[in-house]
Amino acid sequence: MDIFSSLKKLLNEKNILKFGAVPFSSCKTVRPYKLGEDISRMKTVYIFAVPYLCRTGKKNISAYAVAKDYHLFFKKIFDEILPFLHNNCPEYKFYGFADSSPVSEVNAAALAGIGIIGDNGLLITEEYSSFVFLGEIITDYPERHFTEQQIRRCPSCGKCKLACPVNEGRGACLSEVTQRKGELDASDKAFLLKYGSVWGCDICQTVCPYTAAAIKNGTIYSPIPFFNENLTPFLTYGMIENMPDDEFKERAYSWRKKEVLLRNLKIYEEGNSNIHSERRSND
Ligand code: SF4
Ligand code: SF4
Repeated sequence: MDIFSSLKKLLNEKNILKFGAVPFSSCKTVRPYKLGEDISRMKTVYIFAVPYLCRTGKKNISAYAVAKDYHLFFKKIFDEILPFLHNNCPEYKFYGFADSSPVSEVNAAALAGIGIIGDNGLLITEEYSSFVFLGEIITDYPERHFTEQQIRRCPSCGKCKLACPVNEGRGACLSEVTQRKGELDASDKAFLLKYGSVWGCDICQTVCPYTAAAIKNGTIYSPIPFFNENLTPFLTYGMIENMPDDEFKERAYSWRKKEVLLRNLKIYEEGNSNIHSERRSND
């Protein structure tokens, strides 16, 4: 079986068009334990980028968490593709990963020619900018059609660094603050309120010129139904408090439990109502 062509076809049918293959030996190993003893026999990494940005109105969470948890999407993909590969090539082993991978995904994707590495640490594609999730299939099958190329980097325009709230002199990352457990101090509360986020931060992605170009070209939004359904772009305290546990579990913002999110929403809603009442009294 021609695995490269079969995988490409299967992924294309799901509107996943950014796909490549690189030798396992060219990749940076970051979590070798994920492959156990099989690591020494691995030959090929098939890697693909999944666009996730969707059109929304007002948002107070990071774009990656607006649809259901992307791990569910990858599980579905791997549940279909891995048995297909095992059935057709029983002499080889195939493993699927997304997010927590044995190899550096950004590095492998850049090596495969899927995109370039940005100074913001993310993979940037021409069509979707950095609004992509990366997934890969690692195998001992010796692929012959590698798409390996020289890694390219962004031109270091400096916009992401300049816009990043870390550079306000506080040294704290907004995304980290929104996911931190426990009480937030007054300056962290003001920080969260200033940027209007209760979960995560998209600033370095939003200001990147590649994002502006992908918007202008009309290619940035995901054509994949999973990322355009069940959207929760704007959270409220009441919504999270009343969300049934099984629904909450399916959200990318659930891994810190409801407490962290409810704390952030309390800060956000109280802060904004104070701002509104100040404005009213000034009118
Ligand atoms: S904003 Fe500029 S420096 Fe940052 S990732 Fe984009 S192109 Fe690179
Ligand atoms: S997530 Fe936001 S605050 Fe954190 S490093 Fe990136 S741009 Fe800066």
